[in-house]
Amino acid sequence: MNNKIDHNKIPELQHRNFRNDDFWTEIPAWANVTRGEFADHLWQQKNAIRKLEQVKKVLGERLKEEWYKDIEEALHKAPMNIRITPYIFSLMDWKDPYNCPLRMQFLPFASQFIEDHPCYMADSLGEDTDSPVPMLTHRYPDKALFLPTTICPVYCSYCTRSRIVGGSSESVEKETYGASQKKWDDVFEYLRNTPLVEDIVVSGGDAYMLTPAQIKYIGQNLLTIPHIRRIRIATKGIAVLPQKILTDDKWVGAVEEIHKLARSFGKQVVIHTHFSSPREITKWSQMAMDRLFNLGITVRNQAVLQEGVNNHIDEMVLLTRQLGYMNIQPYYVYLHDMVPGCEHLRTTLKEGVELEKAVRGTTAGFNTPTFVCDLPGGGGKRHVASYEYYDEENGISVWAAPTVKPGEHFVYCDPISKLSKEAQERWSDKETREKMIADAVKKAGY
Ligand SMILES: *Cc1c(COP(=O)(O)O)cnc(C)c1O
Ligand code: SF4
Repeated sequence: MNNKIDHNKIPELQHRNFRNDDFWTEIPAWANVTRGEFADHLWQQKNAIRKLEQVKKVLGERLKEEWYKDIEEALHKAPMNIRITPYIFSLMDWKDPYNCPLRMQFLPFASQFIEDHPCYMADSLGEDTDSPVPMLTHRYPDKALFLPTTICPVYCSYCTRSRIVGGSSESVEKETYGASQKKWDDVFEYLRNTPLVEDIVVSGGDAYMLTPAQIKYIGQNLLTIPHIRRIRIATKGIAVLPQKILTDDKWVGAVEEIHKLARSFGKQVVIHTHFSSPREITKWSQMAMDRLFNLGITVRNQAVLQEGVNNHIDEMVLLTRQLGYMNIQPYYVYLHDMVPGCEHLRTTLKEGVELEKAVRGTTAGFNTPTFVCDLPGGGGKRHVASYEYYDEENGISVWAAPTVKPGEHFVYCDPISKLSKEAQERWSDKETREKMIADAVKKAGY
């Protein structure tokens, strides 16, 4: 990773350029798709790529046999299914798919897989442990996470909730649910009886997949609980399917309605979205944002730090500036969770700390994301530089979470593939690695 800002390479105004060509016409199957058709969110959803055969069908001659085999093998092992909107699929670099930050996020190649870290966990963040009622995680005193659905318009290969999101894959059985309204009432009941909670994240899955009626139902139920002051609706949609904001008036109307209702109560409804690299930002994103901005709806961004996607200073600065430019507030950049099937996408903690240093100061402070590690085992989100102890050589960091789990300690591990040969060898021996972790924990004062 090279952290020097090269001002010649990032012309200061590059972030104001939003791609606006008919890029999808480069994909053989969509060569004749008009701008009007492409703008239709229903067309996007109907033509989403969900099977390997469809990759072949749309790419035709452009698909190389080796890619096909690589994807096929990946899908046998991957915890996530694929689902890719034509918008995202056609923004992928089909001249060099191996290095394309979009392909890496949504279409796995087996040749890039690395063995899972010995300390990974399917529920790395302990969301099921801190769950007082199904579909709700209540870890922090005044905020809670509500997961009303487990489906999304696009599936990320690295989903932190791959244990439940996106339907069973060949390697993981899941009880994926669309939206099951009946069970939500138990969540509302719990929240009504828990007066400390002021803040609800409505996530999933993806709120894009909720119907307008469901958005209103959730909004009205939550907003009429007197102590609930703030709701965030989490959707990656603005990044992967901006066409819905432009052409699904009923969905936007539902969000607008609960946003207005909230304001009439002196409360907040905002959207949290998920852009990870500048490659997924186009004029379509800006147009979608213009509409939401016009409605007065605040949008913030949460990105995941990933190898080859955004762990380079130029990419991260451009992403940050471009988000700010289209009125999205960069909120968090997460260190990658230690979940299965995506070891190749993780970075070290050190990279996170270095990037945070480099990004801070490049734009307005309120448009500068906080780099956080969401602690394995449910310690919650912590600033990347706030570890108690970090053994860089062996890639082991030890953390405290004084508010969330006082007295407990948490361990995050860097990907072994990024450590020295000697350290890699130490990790390969069970006894040695257990001792290394125990040593680090002791050095942290536990
Ligand atoms: C991330 C998260 C929240 C929200 O945390 P913020 O730091 O306010 O964004 C709430 N509950 C859970 C369980 C979370 O993981
Ligand atoms: S949009 Fe979010 S919930 Fe859906 S697959 Fe991606 S990371 Fe997982």
